[in-house]
Amino acid sequence: MKVLLTETRKVKTECGDIEYIFERKNIKNINLRIRHNGSIFVSVPENVAESIADSFVISKCRYIRNAVDTFESNEIPKAEMKYVSGENVTLLGKNMRISIIKDAEEYVNTDGIYVYIHVRRPDYYNRKKNLLNNWLNEQCNIIFSEIMHEVHQKFIPYGVDYPQLKLRNMTSRWGSCLPNKGIITLNKRLIEAPKNCIEYVVYHEFCHFIHPNHSKQFYSLLQVMLPDWRESKQLLENHIVL
Ligand SMILES: [Zn+2]
Repeated sequence: MKVLLTETRKVKTECGDIEYIFERKNIKNINLRIRHNGSIFVSVPENVAESIADSFVISKCRYIRNAVDTFESNEIPKAEMKYVSGENVTLLGKNMRISIIKDAEEYVNTDGIYVYIHVRRPDYYNRKKNLLNNWLNEQCNIIFSEIMHEVHQKFIPYGVDYPQLKLRNMTSRWGSCLPNKGIITLNKRLIEAPKNCIEYVVYHEFCHFIHPNHSKQFYSLLQVMLPDWRESKQLLENHIVL
Protein backbone atom coordinates (compact mmCIF):
# COMPACT_ATOMS: atom_id res chain seq x y z
CA MET A 1 0.00 0.00 0.00
CA LYS A 2 1.49 3.29 -1.12
CA VAL A 3 1.79 5.89 1.61
CA LEU A 4 0.89 9.32 0.22
CA LEU A 5 1.78 11.33 3.30
CA THR A 6 3.29 10.67 6.73
CA GLU A 7 3.54 13.06 9.65
CA THR A 8 3.85 12.78 13.41
CA ARG A 9 0.94 14.35 15.29
CA LYS A 10 0.20 14.86 18.95
CA VAL A 11 -3.23 15.20 20.55
CA LYS A 12 -4.44 15.97 24.04
CA THR A 13 -6.80 13.32 25.35
CA GLU A 14 -8.36 12.52 28.72
CA CYS A 15 -5.69 9.82 29.03
CA GLY A 16 -2.85 12.30 28.48
CA ASP A 17 -1.04 13.39 25.33
CA ILE A 18 -0.85 10.79 22.61
CA GLU A 19 1.68 11.04 19.82
CA TYR A 20 0.92 9.06 16.69
CA ILE A 21 2.06 8.67 13.12
CA PHE A 22 -0.49 9.97 10.67
CA GLU A 23 -0.49 8.34 7.25
CA ARG A 24 -2.60 9.11 4.24
CA LYS A 25 -3.07 6.09 1.99
CA ASN A 26 -5.15 4.84 -0.84
CA ILE A 27 -7.58 3.00 1.49
CA LYS A 28 -11.30 3.06 2.28
CA ASN A 29 -11.44 3.29 6.08
CA ILE A 30 -9.52 4.79 8.98
CA ASN A 31 -7.07 2.24 10.36
CA LEU A 32 -5.37 2.09 13.74
CA ARG A 33 -2.23 0.03 14.32
CA ILE A 34 -0.21 -0.24 17.48
CA ARG A 35 3.19 -1.83 17.17
CA HIS A 36 4.83 -3.93 19.86
CA ASN A 37 7.30 -1.12 20.54
CA GLY A 38 4.35 1.13 21.45
CA SER A 39 4.31 3.28 18.31
CA ILE A 40 0.85 4.21 17.10
CA PHE A 41 -0.13 4.50 13.43
CA VAL A 42 -3.37 5.95 12.10
CA SER A 43 -3.90 5.68 8.37
CA VAL A 44 -6.73 7.49 6.64
CA PRO A 45 -8.16 7.59 3.12
CA GLU A 46 -6.94 10.30 0.77
CA ASN A 47 -9.78 12.75 1.35
CA VAL A 48 -9.88 12.58 5.17
CA ALA A 49 -8.53 15.56 7.12
CA GLU A 50 -5.93 15.35 9.91
CA SER A 51 -8.50 16.66 12.39
CA ILE A 52 -10.66 13.58 11.81
CA ALA A 53 -7.69 11.37 12.65
CA ASP A 54 -7.10 13.46 15.81
CA SER A 55 -10.74 12.97 16.90
CA PHE A 56 -10.44 9.28 16.14
CA VAL A 57 -7.39 8.97 18.42
CA ILE A 58 -9.16 10.98 21.15
CA SER A 59 -12.21 8.71 20.97
CA LYS A 60 -10.00 5.60 21.21
CA CYS A 61 -7.58 6.92 23.82
CA ARG A 62 -8.41 4.37 26.52
CA TYR A 63 -8.03 1.48 24.15
CA ILE A 64 -4.73 2.89 22.82
CA ARG A 65 -3.29 3.47 26.30
CA ASN A 66 -4.21 -0.04 27.39
CA ALA A 67 -2.68 -1.61 24.32
CA VAL A 68 0.55 0.39 24.65
CA ASP A 69 0.83 -0.46 28.37
CA THR A 70 0.33 -4.15 27.67
CA PHE A 71 2.97 -4.17 24.96
CA GLU A 72 5.41 -2.28 27.16
CA SER A 73 5.01 -4.70 30.07
CA ASN A 74 5.71 -7.55 27.65
CA GLU A 75 8.73 -5.80 26.21
CA ILE A 76 10.91 -6.38 29.29
CA PRO A 77 13.68 -8.44 27.73
CA LYS A 78 14.34 -11.84 29.19
CA ALA A 79 17.61 -11.48 31.05
CA GLU A 80 20.53 -13.21 29.33
CA MET A 81 21.52 -16.33 31.19
CA LYS A 82 24.96 -16.31 32.78
CA TYR A 83 25.25 -20.07 33.41
CA VAL A 84 26.36 -19.69 37.01
CA SER A 85 25.43 -21.63 40.13
CA GLY A 86 22.15 -20.50 41.70
CA GLU A 87 20.62 -19.36 38.44
CA ASN A 88 17.08 -20.49 37.68
CA VAL A 89 15.98 -23.01 35.04
CA THR A 90 12.29 -23.86 34.60
CA LEU A 91 11.22 -27.31 33.47
CA LEU A 92 7.60 -28.49 33.32
CA GLY A 93 6.52 -25.54 35.47
CA LYS A 94 9.07 -26.33 38.15
CA ASN A 95 11.89 -23.97 39.06
CA MET A 96 15.27 -25.59 39.48
CA ARG A 97 18.69 -24.15 40.21
CA ILE A 98 21.82 -24.49 38.18
CA SER A 99 24.86 -25.96 39.86
CA ILE A 100 28.18 -25.75 38.01
CA ILE A 101 30.52 -28.64 38.73
CA LYS A 102 34.13 -28.77 37.61
CA ASP A 103 34.54 -32.22 36.14
CA ALA A 104 36.78 -34.04 33.66
CA GLU A 105 33.68 -35.45 31.99
CA GLU A 106 31.20 -32.99 30.52
CA TYR A 107 27.46 -33.63 30.82
CA VAL A 108 24.27 -32.34 32.41
CA ASN A 109 21.99 -34.14 34.85
CA THR A 110 19.34 -33.30 37.41
CA ASP A 111 17.99 -34.54 40.73
CA GLY A 112 14.77 -32.57 40.37
CA ILE A 113 16.07 -29.72 42.52
CA TYR A 114 19.32 -28.83 40.81
CA VAL A 115 20.42 -29.00 37.20
CA TYR A 116 24.10 -29.94 37.35
CA ILE A 117 26.32 -28.75 34.54
CA HIS A 118 29.52 -30.80 34.66
CA VAL A 119 32.16 -28.91 32.76
CA ARG A 120 35.95 -28.97 32.45
CA ARG A 121 36.32 -25.20 32.68
CA PRO A 122 33.58 -23.61 34.81
CA ASP A 123 34.49 -20.15 33.46
CA TYR A 124 33.89 -21.18 29.85
CA TYR A 125 30.55 -19.51 29.05
CA ASN A 126 29.94 -20.95 25.56
CA ARG A 127 30.68 -24.49 26.65
CA LYS A 128 28.18 -24.28 29.54
CA LYS A 129 25.60 -22.71 27.25
CA ASN A 130 25.97 -25.50 24.68
CA LEU A 131 25.88 -28.23 27.29
CA LEU A 132 22.68 -26.87 28.83
CA ASN A 133 21.01 -26.16 25.48
CA ASN A 134 21.76 -29.65 24.18
CA TRP A 135 20.39 -31.15 27.36
CA LEU A 136 17.24 -29.00 27.14
CA ASN A 137 16.75 -30.09 23.53
CA GLU A 138 17.00 -33.71 24.65
CA GLN A 139 14.43 -33.05 27.38
CA CYS A 140 12.12 -31.43 24.81
CA ASN A 141 12.44 -34.46 22.54
CA ILE A 142 11.82 -36.97 25.33
CA ILE A 143 8.93 -35.15 27.01
CA PHE A 144 7.19 -33.85 23.88
CA SER A 145 7.40 -37.28 22.19
CA GLU A 146 5.94 -38.96 25.24
CA ILE A 147 3.01 -36.52 25.23
CA MET A 148 2.59 -36.86 21.46
CA HIS A 149 2.37 -40.65 21.76
CA GLU A 150 -0.28 -40.34 24.48
CA VAL A 151 -2.35 -37.84 22.52
CA HIS A 152 -1.94 -39.74 19.26
CA GLN A 153 -3.79 -42.73 20.78
CA LYS A 154 -6.99 -40.67 20.75
CA PHE A 155 -6.54 -39.76 17.10
CA ILE A 156 -5.89 -43.28 15.79
CA PRO A 157 -9.67 -43.86 15.32
CA TYR A 158 -9.63 -40.82 13.00
CA GLY A 159 -6.95 -42.42 10.85
CA VAL A 160 -4.20 -39.99 11.89
CA ASP A 161 -0.68 -41.39 11.51
CA TYR A 162 1.91 -40.60 14.16
CA PRO A 163 3.53 -37.35 12.98
CA GLN A 164 7.14 -36.27 12.91
CA LEU A 165 8.10 -33.90 15.76
CA LYS A 166 10.19 -30.83 15.02
CA LEU A 167 11.53 -28.41 17.63
CA ARG A 168 12.00 -24.72 17.04
CA ASN A 169 12.48 -21.47 18.88
CA MET A 170 9.45 -19.42 17.96
CA THR A 171 8.64 -15.94 19.14
CA SER A 172 4.94 -15.73 18.40
CA ARG A 173 3.40 -19.18 18.74
CA TRP A 174 3.51 -22.41 20.69
CA GLY A 175 3.18 -24.82 17.86
CA SER A 176 2.29 -25.32 14.23
CA CYS A 177 1.61 -28.22 11.95
CA LEU A 178 1.66 -29.42 8.37
CA PRO A 179 -1.15 -32.01 8.22
CA ASN A 180 -0.32 -33.01 4.62
CA LYS A 181 3.30 -33.72 5.48
CA GLY A 182 2.54 -35.20 8.90
CA ILE A 183 4.67 -32.76 10.85
CA ILE A 184 4.05 -31.08 14.21
CA THR A 185 6.45 -28.30 15.21
CA LEU A 186 6.60 -27.30 18.86
CA ASN A 187 8.15 -24.23 20.44
CA LYS A 188 11.10 -25.28 22.61
CA ARG A 189 10.03 -22.87 25.31
CA LEU A 190 7.01 -25.10 25.99
CA ILE A 191 9.39 -27.20 28.08
CA GLU A 192 9.10 -24.48 30.76
CA ALA A 193 5.33 -24.98 31.05
CA PRO A 194 3.40 -27.49 33.17
CA LYS A 195 2.59 -30.77 31.41
CA ASN A 196 -1.10 -30.01 30.86
CA CYS A 197 -0.14 -26.84 28.95
CA ILE A 198 2.08 -28.86 26.59
CA GLU A 199 -0.74 -31.37 26.19
CA TYR A 200 -3.11 -28.57 25.25
CA VAL A 201 -0.80 -27.40 22.44
CA VAL A 202 -0.31 -30.96 21.19
CA TYR A 203 -4.09 -31.60 21.17
CA HIS A 204 -4.60 -28.33 19.31
CA GLU A 205 -2.12 -29.32 16.60
CA PHE A 206 -3.49 -32.85 16.30
CA CYS A 207 -7.03 -31.45 15.81
CA HIS A 208 -5.65 -29.58 12.78
CA PHE A 209 -4.96 -32.96 11.16
CA ILE A 210 -8.74 -33.29 10.93
CA HIS A 211 -9.78 -29.63 10.64
CA PRO A 212 -6.99 -27.48 9.16
CA ASN A 213 -8.63 -24.17 10.15
CA HIS A 214 -9.92 -22.72 13.39
CA SER A 215 -13.49 -23.51 12.39
CA LYS A 216 -16.42 -24.27 14.69
CA GLN A 217 -15.86 -27.96 13.97
CA PHE A 218 -12.22 -27.61 15.00
CA TYR A 219 -13.18 -26.20 18.41
CA SER A 220 -15.95 -28.79 18.91
CA LEU A 221 -13.42 -31.55 18.33
CA LEU A 222 -10.88 -29.93 20.67
CA GLN A 223 -13.62 -29.60 23.29
CA VAL A 224 -14.44 -33.32 23.03
CA MET A 225 -10.79 -34.36 23.09
CA LEU A 226 -9.71 -32.04 25.91
CA PRO A 227 -12.68 -30.57 27.80
CA ASP A 228 -10.54 -28.28 29.99
CA TRP A 229 -8.38 -26.90 27.16
CA ARG A 230 -9.34 -23.30 28.02
CA GLU A 231 -7.87 -23.55 31.53
CA SER A 232 -4.65 -25.03 30.18
CA LYS A 233 -4.39 -22.33 27.51
CA GLN A 234 -4.91 -19.63 30.14
CA LEU A 235 -2.33 -21.18 32.43
CA LEU A 236 0.16 -21.37 29.58
CA GLU A 237 -0.35 -17.74 28.64
CA ASN A 238 0.02 -16.64 32.26
CA HIS A 239 3.08 -18.81 32.71
CA ILE A 240 5.25 -17.82 29.78
CA VAL A 241 5.37 -14.60 27.84
CA LEU A 242 6.59 -15.24 24.33
ZN1 LIG B 1 -4.30 -23.66 15.35
